[in-house]
Amino acid sequence: MAALTQSQIDQLAKKLNEEYQALLREVRGELENSGNQHRIDLLNNEPGDSGDESLANALADFNLTVLDRHIDAMRDIEAALQRIKNGEYGVCMDCGDDVAFARLQAYPTAKRCLTCQEKRERDYAHEGHPKM
Ligand SMILES: [Zn+2]
Repeated sequence: MAALTQSQIDQLAKKLNEEYQALLREVRGELENSGNQHRIDLLNNEPGDSGDESLANALADFNLTVLDRHIDAMRDIEAALQRIKNGEYGVCMDCGDDVAFARLQAYPTAKRCLTCQEKRERDYAHEGHPKM
């Protein structure tokens, strides 16, 4: 059982939902950009203009990179909301201890307590940027 009170969980769930909606708006914006503006620009080029293909590929790659980051964040939030639903939220996935409310306020998608997260970051520091 998590040590979080229902009102704390509600507060964090609200925060997660707000972040999710904000990400969704950004993804929509990105899709609109790629769907309209960029494509229209490309369509305005005469067929056979040199570089059309590589420009399209470059734009597609750029948008995917941006979207991938948003989509990863959205998946994290979905997983956190699922843990709330299952009553598993706020429990460290490594040691099973409660994750401090203050930590969850800062990182509502945190899956580990601070002790385990720090240990993990030490262990995996050479692999680049550890995730929350
Ligand atoms: Zn832990």
